[in-house]
Amino acid sequence: MPLNNSQYDQLIRSYDAKQLKNQHDLEQRVRYAYLKVPRLREIDNAIASASVSQARKMLDGDTKALSSLKEQLAAYRKEREDLLVRYEFPADYFEPAYSCKDCKDTGFINGKRCHCFKQAAIDLVYTQSNLKDILIRENFSTFSYDYYSDEDINPATGLSSFATVKDAVEKCRDFILNFQSPGNFSNLYFYGDTGIGKTFLSNCIAKELLDAGYSVIYFTAFQLFDILSKGVFDKDEDAVATHQNIYTCDLLIIDDLGTELYNSFTTSQLFLCLNERILRKKSTIISTNLEMKQLADIYSERVLSRISSNYTIIKLFGRDIRLLKRSR
Ligand SMILES: [Zn+2]
Repeated sequence: MPLNNSQYDQLIRSYDAKQLKNQHDLEQRVRYAYLKVPRLREIDNAIASASVSQARKMLDGDTKALSSLKEQLAAYRKEREDLLVRYEFPADYFEPAYSCKDCKDTGFINGKRCHCFKQAAIDLVYTQSNLKDILIRENFSTFSYDYYSDEDINPATGLSSFATVKDAVEKCRDFILNFQSPGNFSNLYFYGDTGIGKTFLSNCIAKELLDAGYSVIYFTAFQLFDILSKGVFDKDEDAVATHQNIYTCDLLIIDDLGTELYNSFTTSQLFLCLNERILRKKSTIISTNLEMKQLADIYSERVLSRISSNYTIIKLFGRDIRLLKRSR
């Protein structure tokens, strides 16, 4: 992920701030625990001085004293554990609460950028922090089947809107479960009328994969073509660099395809983007109101053929949830 200097500094500062906050929170927790259970402070002091003596004995090569110290330390740790349980502190109460356990909020693992750093860079460059807020509201734990009825039957499939969405959710779960597993490469194409949960479902997937440490970029079709055109026509350096991420991130979500102003530029760029990601075996999710036939009419047969041979097509069916919510 190419970042300019000020973006890089901004990220590093945010990691520093995170570490400071972790430390501060931990100190507060420890202070509280010592107040509640003074014996804990004594134990911690004893552990600290025993550890220092242990190091000294180790240097002296005094094995006998060393083993008795080890026993002593183990006994202190056990007593501490028991006290924590007795006073109902969580087992990890004395551990820093990292937002990323993998790099302990340093942003790096063995000198390489952690997955959380890569995503933080994406969020910064594409100002996707709003996506995070949306994902707090829209994810599998808030997904509701209540808006899908058993009675609305899709004449084309004979399935109710409830059965259709249940099947769609299963496919989404499969997509997540097998994401980037060897020999598995899949993409999703959600289509159907406005307001029946296409974007919600792609958000559910985004949340799961982000939590699992994958890089995810979300764009409306309008934003995507806007960025692509900046790179091509303006030769804007940042925009050219971001092209690379659009082709290489683990998951690209293109929302509302067909609502942008399409022309020969968007048509060729869409093909290039989808094709490039297929070649790199990077997954894409498209949501749109467009039927397959319209897709071919607007974006060409080439785009249709890439999608129909590489994507799982999920047609949703039902009533506009936004209207249902309003009428309840
Ligand atoms: Zn990390």
